[in-house]
Amino acid sequence: KLAQFPFVRELDSFDFDAQPSLDQGQIRELATCRWIAHGDTVLFLGPPGTGKTHLAVSLGREAIRQNYNVQFVTAATLVAMLAKAHSDGTLDKQLTILSRPKLLIIDELGYLPFEANAAHLFFQLVSRRYEKGSILITSNRSVGEWGNVFGDPVVATAILDRLLHHSTVITIRGDSYRLREKRRSGLLQ
Ligand code: ADP
Ligand code: MG
Repeated sequence: KLAQFPFVRELDSFDFDAQPSLDQGQIRELATCRWIAHGDTVLFLGPPGTGKTHLAVSLGREAIRQNYNVQFVTAATLVAMLAKAHSDGTLDKQLTILSRPKLLIIDELGYLPFEANAAHLFFQLVSRRYEKGSILITSNRSVGEWGNVFGDPVVATAILDRLLHHSTVITIRGDSYRLREKRRSGLLQ
């Protein structure tokens, strides 16, 4: 099986009281995996430490329990994979491989800006999976900033057009849970 989660997390250990900007009912609905059956997209947007990866891993593990194939990659790794395949002349094969899992989780989009060619490669992946397999993306950037992330507003618009067509966008606000824990234990003011 694919996956490769960075850590093990479940929805049951997610403290919704600590994250009032989240609608728990909406997250529970996502945990039914109906959106995956439909090939829809989910975006978790918000600052670092607000639980985006925790939620992505939890939903990914739920999907596996429901017998969906799931692959988890960081955006940086994904772009490196696509760039290497492109330079090796195996891009088409790599796009086919990356289109097989019913759910592809792309974590940490926006921490590093894309190079121009990377945006085109990413666009090809999104197009290939469009309306066939689900994509879940976590990002510390709002959708309005994706033009800068991709380094090309035209390609960013084309990517967003496909991603947002059948999508749930969840914007998380608030402070980092990591820092909150530190503050509580007196390590930070
Ligand atoms: P992000 O991906 O948004 O930067 P993470 O999901 O990695 O944040 O969360 C950072 C750490 O804090 C993880 O260990 C995660 O399990 C934990 N965490 C974040 N938010 C919550 C929450 N609301 N309840 C329980 N644990 C949380
Ligand atoms: Mg994260």
